[in-house]
Amino acid sequence: TPVETQAQIRLAEAVVARNYAPLPVVVTDADGAWVRDIEGRRYLDCLAGYSALNFGHRHPRLIAAAEQQLHRVTLTSRAFHHDRLGPFCRDLAELAGLETVLPMNTGAEAVETAIKLVRRWGYEAKGIEPGRAKIVVAADSFHGRTTTIVGFSSDHEARSGFGPFTPGFVTVPFGDADALSAAVDDETAAVLLEPIQGEAGVIVPPDGYLSAVRALTRQQDVLFVADEIQSGLGRTGTTFAVDHESVRPDVLILGKALGGGLLPVSAVLATRDVMRVIRPGSHGSTFGGNPLAAAVGQAVVALLDTGEYQERARALGEALAAGLHELVGQGLTAVRSRGLWAGVDVEPDLMSGRQLCERLLGRGLLTKDTHGQTVRLAPPLVITRSEIEWMIEQLADALADG
Ligand code: PLP
Repeated sequence: TPVETQAQIRLAEAVVARNYAPLPVVVTDADGAWVRDIEGRRYLDCLAGYSALNFGHRHPRLIAAAEQQLHRVTLTSRAFHHDRLGPFCRDLAELAGLETVLPMNTGAEAVETAIKLVRRWGYEAKGIEPGRAKIVVAADSFHGRTTTIVGFSSDHEARSGFGPFTPGFVTVPFGDADALSAAVDDETAAVLLEPIQGEAGVIVPPDGYLSAVRALTRQQDVLFVADEIQSGLGRTGTTFAVDHESVRPDVLILGKALGGGLLPVSAVLATRDVMRVIRPGSHGSTFGGNPLAAAVGQAVVALLDTGEYQERARALGEALAAGLHELVGQGLTAVRSRGLWAGVDVEPDLMSGRQLCERLLGRGLLTKDTHGQTVRLAPPLVITRSEIEWMIEQLADALADG
């Protein structure tokens, strides 16, 4: 490892909590789909901030929106109105086809917000007995890192040592509508799902699953909450992953790319009827919906309103899937993808997911492994067709070197 990189890593390892195990690269600047490290080497960013960078690094329209707002007002708190929040929430609600928006900052916070929202709806609107509301979740889900959320995680390392946990969650296998149906009863307030499971390795449910979930939740007077923090905002080739089955959830959770890779912006969207249970004093956030976040968020919605990014993800996603499927049997055992979002499983005899990421780093690609043998590929949606071809070549060579 070169000297400057080594020095930076040594410094970080001395003073930064070891809650991540980063690849040995020190990024100093970035533009579009590319980043540069402290030694001046360039890398194609195939993780894109876990999909927070759907529009690439430092998109000019987003930078411009942020810069303009920096010169006006950046924070008021919600104790006062400001002139950016209404326009942002109006545009976002329209994009999602829902009526109201509760702005927050991080993804986990928005998930927590949705949990509070559906529980209170369960008591006040559905008439569930106090303290009994249940939320049905999927095994191997990832919804964030707060104590309540890790409490219903099936990942041992995410939970271990952090209890006691919040009760009221029931776990069912992902992609199995019958199991979900069997778990729902009169005390169920909501079903909370990622339409495609991201951290689990880009797990796409069987066709018809999301519409079956929609039908059965409607029938049973249960809210359908879609966590589209990673799957939403263009990644899968449509604005939202639920669009693939023309499903509209009652509650939609957004984050990551909503802040354009500039700052944390998340939101919970719901029908007016559901959001009604949130009254002054029941929930809040100092930074949620701040003018800077709202200005950037509104610019993100404007990018998505063009349809350009969804179309890129769809068309280029086909090229990505075709290229990856050719590597099954050539070092990969499985490929799952939708749009510009793929999970590939590496042959265990060959190397681990982490080892593949290290090799790809040496070839100028930033990637991230998950669950041992899986590597996910989620480049910014501004990536070009020739960059995708180059990425697949590098992957093929890295696997062949095994
Ligand atoms: N929900 C999903 C589906 C996610 O993928 C993530 C992050 O990876 C989160 C929630 C948590 O978001 P954050 O890290 O901003 O708290």
